[in-house]
Amino acid sequence: MNAPRLEVAPALWTAVLAHLRQQGAGVRESGGFLLGQIHSGVRVVTGFLPYEQLQADALQADFVHLSGASFSRLWDYCATHGLEVVADVHTHRYGAGQSRSDSENPMLAIAGHVALIVPDFAQGPTGLDHLGLYVYQGSHRWARYRGAVVAQVLKFTPPEGER
Ligand SMILES: [Zn+2]
Repeated sequence: MNAPRLEVAPALWTAVLAHLRQQGAGVRESGGFLLGQIHSGVRVVTGFLPYEQLQADALQADFVHLSGASFSRLWDYCATHGLEVVADVHTHRYGAGQSRSDSENPMLAIAGHVALIVPDFAQGPTGLDHLGLYVYQGSHRWARYRGAVVAQVLKFTPPEGER
């Protein structure tokens, strides 16, 4: 597999973090799918679909749970808008490590899928070196990126037209 690469415009990433911070309100996990395009292994994020938009009660339990119907809605949304799921992101109360459930139940069990975890319900520092970035390898294995190496995978890109 190529070296994983996830690209996002800084303004969009800032908006995603702000949404997660507000939605979790410092008391619960929040998250969503990062949608966009995958071109020769490079995952370019162009949009964000919060879990609560797919399923009103997605955030009611201690951790995010999406029903099969929510995934149907996700695939419909992607087909309608010509998008792919390139990653998912969710917050944790404390650190950015994967829970057992996170690691055993990838949101998308497809090799190369990227899962991001933002610590402290996104209320604290959210610089790249605070995040957890996990790339699914298949067969319940993940490549784990924490600290400075997160920036090797997650790249900020200039907005369209400024390239
Ligand atoms: Zn988690």
